[in-house]
Amino acid sequence: MVVIKMAMLDAGSTQSTDSKDGDNLLEVDRLRKWFRVKRSIIEILQGRQVSVVKAVDGVSFSIRRGSTLVLAGESGSGKSTIARLILRAIEPDEGSIRFAGRDILSLDKKGLMWFRRNVQMIHQDPYSSLNPRMRIISIVGEPLEVHGIKDRKERDEIVLKALEEVRLEPVDEIAYRYPHMLSGGQRQRVAIARALVLKPMLIVADEPVSMLDLSVRAEILELMQNLKVKHNITYMYITHDLSTARYFGDRIAILYKGRIVESGDIDDVINEPLHPYTQALIDAIPEPDPSSRLRDKSIRIRFTMDVYDESGCRFYARCPYAMDKCKYEPMMLEVKRGHYVSCFLYK
Ligand code: SF4
Repeated sequence: MVVIKMAMLDAGSTQSTDSKDGDNLLEVDRLRKWFRVKRSIIEILQGRQVSVVKAVDGVSFSIRRGSTLVLAGESGSGKSTIARLILRAIEPDEGSIRFAGRDILSLDKKGLMWFRRNVQMIHQDPYSSLNPRMRIISIVGEPLEVHGIKDRKERDEIVLKALEEVRLEPVDEIAYRYPHMLSGGQRQRVAIARALVLKPMLIVADEPVSMLDLSVRAEILELMQNLKVKHNITYMYITHDLSTARYFGDRIAILYKGRIVESGDIDDVINEPLHPYTQALIDAIPEPDPSSRLRDKSIRIRFTMDVYDESGCRFYARCPYAMDKCKYEPMMLEVKRGHYVSCFLYK
């Protein structure tokens, strides 16, 4: 089970469930990252020299050990920026990140090595994430070498076992191939093996199946799920695709323009979405059964060039239910046990 607690930075509120903090592997609190963006020449002539993109704006959540939290939202919602912040690829403007009880933003060099060993990433693109000039055995063995396993024989043994675990067979042949000699699905299995060799506690998977054929996606997700159970891995699964999220996640946080707008157990959120944005995302899931009730719930998102006022609800300009009071920031409410939403439709 994943437990999410959320805080809206501006609203200054924090919701949490009754989980014990000691159960949480990752705790993110009021994380903020804004990017300054240069304006066009016309905008500069108008005196508007820079603008700010609030990529992540006061996001808080936690993930319980051995569970999967899905971060879902469309492009620009902030989900990949959150991943980069957690991996320490970029620094936050504000907020804290605790991993296994340690503040990762103040780790020294040794602490950082410990953190990097225990947090691994699976990228979206299995074609560009593997070095094309290296054989598979070296690609998967590289993290072991970086983290101190200098004996080649010992490394190779661990790698072959990892390739076996991700069902890349025949192992002895695949190990000596180059990435271009493998299919997309096989390459993603290599990426998973590479993430697995260090026995990490947390794997951040950023759209790991979105570039794969439909027929391969379920196999890769099933593999990741089996490895989770076997090794007690915790996942942060990032996606725009709620159909795969439903298969893979325990809890879900829906992101819109840098903020969490809804979160809860994945079945609760998918079966009874509360926020108009979540409803629209679910409505966009391809539905093989035309009589499905989800189709009856379809909502029409407004397409508009309105400039939305960031002091209010971020979804205001697109929301079909927008009211005057939505020009103010809605608080996060626990509408049902563990199911939170930020919207004035709920009191
Ligand atoms: Fe729509 Fe208002 Fe709810 Fe925002 S707060 S999602 S504008 S109804």
